[in-house]
Amino acid sequence: MLSILEPEQLAPSAAADAEPDGRLRDSHNRTITDLRLSVTDRCNYRCVYCRTGEDGTQYSELPIADYARILRVFVSLGIEKIRLTGGEPLLRQGLLDLIRETAQLRSDFVPSLDIALTTNGHLLAPLARPLREAGLSRITVSMDAVDSETFARITRVPGSFERVRDGIRAAQDAGLGPVKVNCVLMRGFNDSQIEAFAEFSRNEGVIVRFIEFMPLEEGRTWAPETVIPMDEIVARLNAVRPLVELPPNHLSETARRFTFDDGRGEIGIIAPVSRPFCGHCSRVRLTSDGKVRTCLFSQSDHDLVGLMQRGASDDDMRSWIRRVVERKEARHHIGEPGFLKPSRSMVHIGG
Ligand code: SAM
Repeated sequence: MLSILEPEQLAPSAAADAEPDGRLRDSHNRTITDLRLSVTDRCNYRCVYCRTGEDGTQYSELPIADYARILRVFVSLGIEKIRLTGGEPLLRQGLLDLIRETAQLRSDFVPSLDIALTTNGHLLAPLARPLREAGLSRITVSMDAVDSETFARITRVPGSFERVRDGIRAAQDAGLGPVKVNCVLMRGFNDSQIEAFAEFSRNEGVIVRFIEFMPLEEGRTWAPETVIPMDEIVARLNAVRPLVELPPNHLSETARRFTFDDGRGEIGIIAPVSRPFCGHCSRVRLTSDGKVRTCLFSQSDHDLVGLMQRGASDDDMRSWIRRVVERKEARHHIGEPGFLKPSRSMVHIGG
């Protein structure tokens, strides 16, 4: 369901307008420092756990200049990390321009502004160096199997594994390493790959992160039994070689981090279902059609582009964003009675 919130419909809040440091804070006292921006909801893969395989979806994208303006406004509100995603962001024309403009914000606002990108890696090899030169800080590549046959079965694209592996290597050569490789694990589907991913991390010098499957798919494949909980992954990896836990990089770190007892390889486990980390959530999202989502599982979107089209100034946008963010949900309710899947699937939210 889409709720178009006019700024005047949002009750003014003294707290929201009076943050002494000017940063975005919600009513649960979380500071919002991360923005995920989807630059398209088109994708060149049709991963079987994410999409139904049928086409005919309407795609929606904003002009690059609108994303650039939105990013500038968010960064002026204390956003320190931007992740560009999709759909598949490397399909988006003008992406390098957007990264170049975003990198300019480092000198205007936040010298350490982190600009990351999540991609399926299919188009990455020739783009890795231009992305780095445009100002990208780092890259995450999604990969749900490390053998060619399983990978092609998942993506529905023959030859995709080799393309993605070459993309990862090109990203490392371009200075975008260490590359993070995200794998969504599902029981009876790709959980046979856990040990092979450990080897992949050790051999390729990438950080492999296993992510629990969430109810965000287009079809109806999710069930509690499909989720492989963190404890099970840890036990299986420990049987390969003893694991050693690494300290979190920062407070809002979503992954528990491990290496092996010889220090080679790094594994992260992100467990939003079995061990939710909502209490430390520092994120908001913007969909490719310009809607703010304060949680992956939000039941409504907030129409920022509508506000822009009505002629809002940057200051209007800032006050509106503060009020929207203030209402960020305390947590998700996966697994609880009455849980409602959001109406948008992952590919239309921006993963
Ligand atoms: N196309 C890009 C990519 O493949 O990385 C970016 C968008 S994709 C939707 C982002 C990530 O969301 C991918 O790593 C994908 O595996 C993950 N994803 C999709 N559906 C998911 C689900 N139901 N639960 C957990 N992760 C999911």
